[in-house]
Amino acid sequence: MTYTRARDAAIEAVTSWPSHGRCAPKSTLPIRQLFGSNVFTDDVMRARLPEHIYKAIRETINKGAPLDPSIADVVAAAMKEWALERGATHYTHWFQPMTGLTAEKHDSFLAPTNGGGAVADFSGKELIKGEPDASSFPSGGIRATFEARGYTAWDPTSPAFILENPNGTTLCIPTAFCSWTGEALDKKTPLLRSMEVLSKHAVRILRLFGSTANQVYTTAGPEQEYFLIDKVFYFNRPDLINAGRTLFGAKPPKGQELEDHYFGAIPERVLACMHETETELYKLGVPVKTRHNEVSPAQYEIAPIFENANVATDHNMLVMETMKRVADRYGLQLLLHEKPFAGVNGSGKHVNWSMADDHGNNLLKPGDTPHDNAQFLLFLVAVIKAVAKHADLLRVAVAHAGNDHRLGANEAPPAIVSIFLGDMLQDIVEQIEAGGAKSAMAGGELKIGVTVLPTLPRDPGDRNRTSPFAFTGNKFEFRAVGSAQSIAGPIVVLNTIVAEIVDEFATQLEQAVATKKDLNTEIQKLLQAAVKESKSVLFNGDNYSEAWQIEAERRGLPNRRTTIDSLPDLVSPKAVALFTKYGVLSERELHSRYEIFLESYHKTINIESQLTIQIAQRMILPAALRHQAQVAEAIANLKATGATVPKTQSALLNELVGAIENLQSATDQLTEAVEEPPRGDSLDLAKHSRDVIIPAMSAVRAAGDQLETLVADDLWPLPTYQEMLFIK
Ligand code: ADP
Ligand code: MG
Repeated sequence: MTYTRARDAAIEAVTSWPSHGRCAPKSTLPIRQLFGSNVFTDDVMRARLPEHIYKAIRETINKGAPLDPSIADVVAAAMKEWALERGATHYTHWFQPMTGLTAEKHDSFLAPTNGGGAVADFSGKELIKGEPDASSFPSGGIRATFEARGYTAWDPTSPAFILENPNGTTLCIPTAFCSWTGEALDKKTPLLRSMEVLSKHAVRILRLFGSTANQVYTTAGPEQEYFLIDKVFYFNRPDLINAGRTLFGAKPPKGQELEDHYFGAIPERVLACMHETETELYKLGVPVKTRHNEVSPAQYEIAPIFENANVATDHNMLVMETMKRVADRYGLQLLLHEKPFAGVNGSGKHVNWSMADDHGNNLLKPGDTPHDNAQFLLFLVAVIKAVAKHADLLRVAVAHAGNDHRLGANEAPPAIVSIFLGDMLQDIVEQIEAGGAKSAMAGGELKIGVTVLPTLPRDPGDRNRTSPFAFTGNKFEFRAVGSAQSIAGPIVVLNTIVAEIVDEFATQLEQAVATKKDLNTEIQKLLQAAVKESKSVLFNGDNYSEAWQIEAERRGLPNRRTTIDSLPDLVSPKAVALFTKYGVLSERELHSRYEIFLESYHKTINIESQLTIQIAQRMILPAALRHQAQVAEAIANLKATGATVPKTQSALLNELVGAIENLQSATDQLTEAVEEPPRGDSLDLAKHSRDVIIPAMSAVRAAGDQLETLVADDLWPLPTYQEMLFIK
């Protein structure tokens, strides 16, 4: 088969996609019945567990009370029965190792009996603890392979669920994953620790305001962007298969400039796929709510209703996995990479974040009364101060190779972390700094709010899409998060840095109360000082502009352009002091993560560079040489007839010869850079990737893309941008 026919066949397959019958929704159950039908929910527990057991497990879920093993046995038995009724044959501890993906090892419920038979068995011990061989997961040096044991520990705060497969179902139990010495090897452990510590200190503030709340949860709602392209194109692109992004591809005549895709009508096959994805997610209790076209052609977004951040994190992993699985049924391929296509927008994940108490009050919701407003302002200013102090850590939380294509590239926020408050709130904060100029004392009580916060609308209409961290009415939206990454890391950082400042505020105010000082005056002083100290992080202007880069530098804000500039901040003395003080990550855990991230960066670039070489040599070069031969032959034929060969034709041949030479010499240079890595540690290797290999890869791509504009279309081996993005 010639290349021509391979690409033609791909297009043929795409355009004749059999929509009939396959696009029918799999389930006709109303959402109310469907939602959570595969989840071991609170309702299920209440219905199936004896009351005292149910109460005990609620204590554990709500307050982290230790779980009695005898109780675990009863819960396990109920869970097993429930799962068997749903056809489960296996169970698995479902966890999130440092690969950034989820992991599962399935065990059958079967246990042999003395009589040679087998019964379904599942004990409390098996529910609470698993022992997967952990040697092949990244540990950043925490655990040598000879001490391979790690263990998974049940997280009762995230409900167990059933994963369906045409040939059976599996009970999945969300778990944390640790080394035998108790060190975190996963994303969930620090997340749970950070939620606990923020809760502890936020409750102290609430107490000062007379609240009886016992717990504060962080809430999260991640808006997930993604691409869907036809699977046949995908299979013809080794770069998409192995790197998740295109390493070659000339810009098509039409990209996103007409702005005709955003919020446009969703193509039928894609919509059918979305329906089925949502049905599957409803069964898993994932409250997905919004869907729409995004800015780039073939780009879309799915967003849930926010939840407790731990559950939201698990659910976002399920969203990514379910989308991928269901897309397959529709002949579509999900692309979660931050930048699958050059020249059009990449994908991010806006993480909406707030805090709520166990009475359901959102702590970042401006209040109606002066009392509420003072509390709101304390939490708001705590976040501002936290971000100002630890902007570098928020940057680290979104630093990885894929996101480097996005941050600072005029489509996503820049690498400089700043906060957008909107005009009204900015004005209020400035008043606070000026000493509460417009606030008034009435009857001895400082009416912080009545005049300071007169009519703060719930949803301030102004939006600044260019800001990496924006206050959007009753929550913050962290926009720099990458589309493929787990949201756990960014939330861990947010929780911990905010916990530190909330702790500081609480200590100061508790002392004031203890020494019989006036609380309101103390709050006013505290807010004023905090705003003064932190205001340089506030910026309402255009974050994409050149002027902001200069202004940010003048303000002394960190600007870590690449992953490698950013990662060392994870192990700075400041970071170590913060994370160890609050017990979120030990110094060893921080260093292990730092090593894992560096290594992952280096490995990613290494894979991309080898793919670049392979595609250049084995796909692009042969096509270009064929084309060169055809042009040369045409010229020779012309000469043979005795006709003069026009200058334009020999010029064409020369251009082609030159472009091929460029491709080959750029490929040679890249090969050399790949084959001779520097001696040194993982930081040296990662720097070599950034400073030598990435530029060398770009040069090969430029030469390849140049050839794409010269070589006959029917000889070109790779599906083009135009085909992948527009043929649906
Ligand atoms: P947009 O940002 O496009 O205006 P929405 O206001 O609908 O969209 O919210 C976007 C996301 O923010 C949704 O996932 C929503 O559930 C989430 N969200 C809303 N309130 C909160 C909150 N208090 N905490 C965390 N996430 C929230
Ligand atoms: Mg949003």
